[in-house]
Amino acid sequence: MILNDPESISIGHYIENIQSYLDHPLTINDHDVNLTNTAGVALYPEHGSNAEEILKRSEISMYNAKRIQAPYAVYEPTASSNFYDQTELAAMLHAAVASMDFELFFQPVLNVHNPHQTTFEALIRWPLGDGYSVRPDEFIPIAERTNAIKQITHWVLETTVAQLAVWRQQSLTPSVQVNLSVKDIEDDSLEPFLAILLSRYSVNPGQLTLEVTETSMMQNPDKARVVLEKIKKLGVSLSIDDFGTGFSSLSILSNMPIDEIKIDRSFVTDLLYSSNHEAIVRSTIFLAHSLDCRVVAEGVETEALGKYLISIGCDKIQGYWYGRPMNLAQTDAWLSETQISIGKVASQN
Ligand code: C2E
Ligand code: MG
Ligand code: MG
Repeated sequence: MILNDPESISIGHYIENIQSYLDHPLTINDHDVNLTNTAGVALYPEHGSNAEEILKRSEISMYNAKRIQAPYAVYEPTASSNFYDQTELAAMLHAAVASMDFELFFQPVLNVHNPHQTTFEALIRWPLGDGYSVRPDEFIPIAERTNAIKQITHWVLETTVAQLAVWRQQSLTPSVQVNLSVKDIEDDSLEPFLAILLSRYSVNPGQLTLEVTETSMMQNPDKARVVLEKIKKLGVSLSIDDFGTGFSSLSILSNMPIDEIKIDRSFVTDLLYSSNHEAIVRSTIFLAHSLDCRVVAEGVETEALGKYLISIGCDKIQGYWYGRPMNLAQTDAWLSETQISIGKVASQN
């Protein structure tokens, strides 16, 4: 719909009127059909100079409104990557991949049985240069569609392994977990690439774990098993990420060369208030331990939750409670503080 002279009317009011009109069941062939609707607003000339741009941006605002479950939203040019639509992001990503304008952040993971063994998860960031960055959840799917994912994964792996070599020179030997995409586990060149990296930087493969989501592993389990078994032979560990969100069959799972299961945040967050989720988490811990796998709980934001998860047998805890993702300088500071506290404990004993 085009509104002329929107300043003379209240847009919110206008949309609410239309929405209340639409908010009645429609009877189609004797069936009552309930409609829901969401509106997106873009203004001319602030948000675009032609009809195509205005339409695109009102669509972006409509999706934003759906995401935050609001009845409508007005386009916000400053809202980070929401400023760009998918086509623009794909073109920008192409340029970012050419110059590898990415950054790795590291989130610490608490190892319950050995708190002195530091583990990080490497998480990619794409800074746009204006203080905003695009979240991996937004650009990894685009990279998967445009085949840029292979170069991105190679960059993440090389940056991680090179960083492990730098830390080793400082007598620091943390473990790092790296995320793989569904395309990577169909890629026969991944294992030879990894083998070359580990030998070029003389890094102990035991310091590296690769995370594969449950959903991506289940897309082509036979192929995944072949690729993962080769990687495992290098001495690298393997973890199933976002466990519980896919539909793994237990028989497939028990045949995969997996060392670790990461229980998805959606089951962990409300564990203390949801008896269903608590039952799921407890039985996943039992299942994983019977398959000789470690269990990581993701998304642990409070001490109470962390302690409870430790009490029911989680081997590793990851979440804002223990530490947020940090850039390299912050990670280095974190590592040296941890070294100092280990030193203190050692000198007390
Ligand atoms: P993931 O592998 O499950 O990573 C955990 C995500 O949860 C990260 O989001 C992390 O910042 C966030 N997180 C950690 N602790 C908490 C917490 O206590 N509360 C909440 N609310 N969130 C927490 P991030 O960095 O935005 O990454 C999102 C996803 O993007 C990752 O989910 C992973 O699937 C993907 N990803 C990240 N880096 C890479 C990469 O280098 N390659 C590939 N292929 N995917 C990546
Ligand atoms: Mg992960
Ligand atoms: Mg996860």
